Amino acid sequence: MQTKVSLGIDIGGTNTVFGIIDQAGKCYAEGTLATRSYNNIQNFITELHAKIFSELKSLDITPIGVGIGAPNGNYYNGTIEHAANLYWKGIIPIVELIEKQFKLPAVVTNDAKAAAIGEMIYGGAKGMKNFVVVTLGTGLGSGIVINGQLVYGNDGLAGELGHTIVHPRGRACNCGRRGCLETYVSATGIKRTACELLATENIESQLRDIPFHQLTAKKVYEAAEKGDPIALEAFQHTGEELGSALANLVAITSPEAIFLQGGVANAGEWLFKTTQEQMEKNLLHVYKQKVKILRSSLPVNAAIFGASALAWNELG
Ligand SMILES: [Zn+2]
Repeated sequence: MQTKVSLGIDIGGTNTVFGIIDQAGKCYAEGTLATRSYNNIQNFITELHAKIFSELKSLDITPIGVGIGAPNGNYYNGTIEHAANLYWKGIIPIVELIEKQFKLPAVVTNDAKAAAIGEMIYGGAKGMKNFVVVTLGTGLGSGIVINGQLVYGNDGLAGELGHTIVHPRGRACNCGRRGCLETYVSATGIKRTACELLATENIESQLRDIPFHQLTAKKVYEAAEKGDPIALEAFQHTGEELGSALANLVAITSPEAIFLQGGVANAGEWLFKTTQEQMEKNLLHVYKQKVKILRSSLPVNAAIFGASALAWNELG
């Protein structure tokens, strides 16, 4: 009998990652596609299908379905709805489009919720009943598990920690409002913080030699690794913002642990340490010393495992 696999697809603001994964969590193949290169959703799906099926052709396995993690992915409606970080605006019937092209059943959820399912099935949250996964990439997402259940909410869109307002009248957000957490804590947030610091401080920094449009969170990270004071301060500010926000989140959800996932989460100890310290400092006394902040223990992009786990859950 052929091995059965599910196709896990994580659609991100910058890149889309896919994995061909069996029920035990073995990944047979993975690949990426630059989401930003496709302003037409149908072209994107055609290319994604071609890439995945060229991988499948060389493997003696049977796909059972497609799990999709996407920004503003609505589990109930099978749609991507008004995603701030994607070119495709309005309501995208992603499940219908994928099912038509792939000729397989599909299911979608928010990318961060998919990441939380991945952490629960294959990662460090195995056996935990109450935890939160925070994904730090182009934006900031979160998946909340309470009493062993992923929280979807009334409309399927619960858990938008990135769009909680932390500074009224603060930075303009892609969602059209101001002061959202993700304008401070995300790859783009780090760049914005570094730019603010460069403008307000006189101290030397290698970041001053980088033209504005070439400055990225990765370059701030590389400068921080070399001890650059502006870059280090940018990460310090980011950790403080995140830590305070997590202290609030704890007051609402009382999790056993908070997992940080994604490119920015892996950015050195200083972000992690500052976040832990700032959260602990701001926690209501009843929660102090109780909540762990952990890195995702999944070896590769946790969201593709989550998307795959979602497919196993719903379609397997
Ligand atoms: Zn926002």
